[in-house]
Amino acid sequence: MTQTADVVILGGGSGGYACAFRAAELGKSVVLIEKDKVGGTCLHRGCIPTKALLHAAEIADSSRESAQFGVTTKFEGIDMPGVNNYKDGVVSRLYKGLQGLVKARKITHVEGSGRLVSPTAVEVNGERYEGAHVVLATGSVPRSLPGLQIDGERVISSDDALRLDVVPGSVIVLGGGVIGVEFASVWRSFGAEVTIVEALPHLLPLEDEANSTALERQFRRRGISYQLGARFVGVQRTDSGVRVSLEAGTANGTADGTENGKTLDADLLLVAVGRGPVSEGLGYDDVGVKMDRGFVLVDEYCQTSVPTVSAVGDLIPTLQLAHVGFAEGILVAERLAGLPVVPIDYAGVPRITYSEPEVASVGLTETQAAEQYGSDKITTLTYDLAGNGKSQILKTQGACKLVAEKDGRVLGVHLVGSRVGELVAEAQLIYNWEALPAEVAALIHPHPTQSEAIGEAHLALAGKPLHVHG
Ligand SMILES: Cc1cc2nc3c(=O)[nH]c(=O)nc-3n(C[C@H](O)[C@H](O)[C@H](O)COP(=O)(O)OP(=O)(O)OC[C@H]3O[C@@H](n4cnc5c(N)ncnc54)[C@H](O)[C@@H]3O)c2cc1C
Repeated sequence: MTQTADVVILGGGSGGYACAFRAAELGKSVVLIEKDKVGGTCLHRGCIPTKALLHAAEIADSSRESAQFGVTTKFEGIDMPGVNNYKDGVVSRLYKGLQGLVKARKITHVEGSGRLVSPTAVEVNGERYEGAHVVLATGSVPRSLPGLQIDGERVISSDDALRLDVVPGSVIVLGGGVIGVEFASVWRSFGAEVTIVEALPHLLPLEDEANSTALERQFRRRGISYQLGARFVGVQRTDSGVRVSLEAGTANGTADGTENGKTLDADLLLVAVGRGPVSEGLGYDDVGVKMDRGFVLVDEYCQTSVPTVSAVGDLIPTLQLAHVGFAEGILVAERLAGLPVVPIDYAGVPRITYSEPEVASVGLTETQAAEQYGSDKITTLTYDLAGNGKSQILKTQGACKLVAEKDGRVLGVHLVGSRVGELVAEAQLIYNWEALPAEVAALIHPHPTQSEAIGEAHLALAGKPLHVHG
């Protein structure tokens, strides 16, 4: 049997469901095919459950360190089943809400695993869904390294890590990107010994180097170890866990300054070396969709090489973030409805690592700005959170670093410190509206808030510093 719709969407994660919602709002009939749960990685195995763990971690830290605020508490430990109940409760409430929205928008939700069988059709459980347009949104899954087998017990992925019902005594985190850093932060707050192994010279290697080094300093203070510029060679199972070996002679700024070639022992190894696209065996290339290493290639309007097929989210080689998937899904829906659309400026997408401390940024790093504009054409300013009242109240350290064109617009905002993730919402307006420092300096920021750090940094860059020493 064949069913028809204006838009057939394969995959109901952030990218797929955002596209479905917007297309339905614009009067299109929509079929949304999902083999697991609508909400995808972000809701069930990503953004939401990890942020719930990070919130529990913050409470653990607060109770452990409450004496510095004159409050007497006793930290007695982590009840992991209790933490998981809280985390799963948050996920299931949001999941219910999302299912309600799918119904309310009158989207046809098809459960099952789909395959692209023509430029306009997807087959699921022997049924054919024919659309004027097909949107591919099958997302991504955890990736490993060649020869490194994730067994789900001692060598685990982020999916497995979210299911742990005990706090491990010790963990090695392979990969110092966002996911690795967030889990390292959670486990340390829960009491584990944590070592991060990163092949590049810094944690969060895509961030401005100042943000990475500030995070490294604070992680070191928190007792989180890391091996930077360290190449993973292999892992062995031991009686009590895992033994990881690192390549000799690759030490480049390790936390303790020693040469590498080390072996590290721990209860668990978390493999957090990135996520690969879900596209194998789904018929994409058979239908003529151009691909690169499993990613579907698209133009700036998310259209593939086949005109009736679009693709969004982690499946395409853009930033793997839920809000990027939302934006791409909406862009495709609006394009299909004939609305005017503008390509996404990916540099203008806010990025947050929700560790303690948080790292948040938008726009260009200093290195990228120097490459694009010339190092003599840009300027930077760093405002230390030591001068920010609310940050002192919270007892957090960090900074707001601005990168700007000399006598021109702000090109990048880079933040480190507890809770600074919320500040990047303002920073993204500054970047995306191409604000001049003097324009931001004219805006009054409420006192005492951490948002004042953004105001103060722009006041200083505009030549009228307020609370700045030296
Ligand atoms: C641990 C972790 C933490 C994260 N934290 C954040 C964060 O804080 N903020 C943020 O912005 N991003 C975060 N992300 C990234 C975010 O989750 C992804 O960018 C986002 O989920 C991508 O959405 P998507 O729709 O492209 O893919 P997915 O969410 O992966 O959805 C794809 C869907 O397609 C379905 N599917 C696949 N194949 C088929 C098929 N053949 N038939 C039917 N259905 C199929 C899958 O079941 C899945 O539900 C995190 C990711 C992880 C792993």
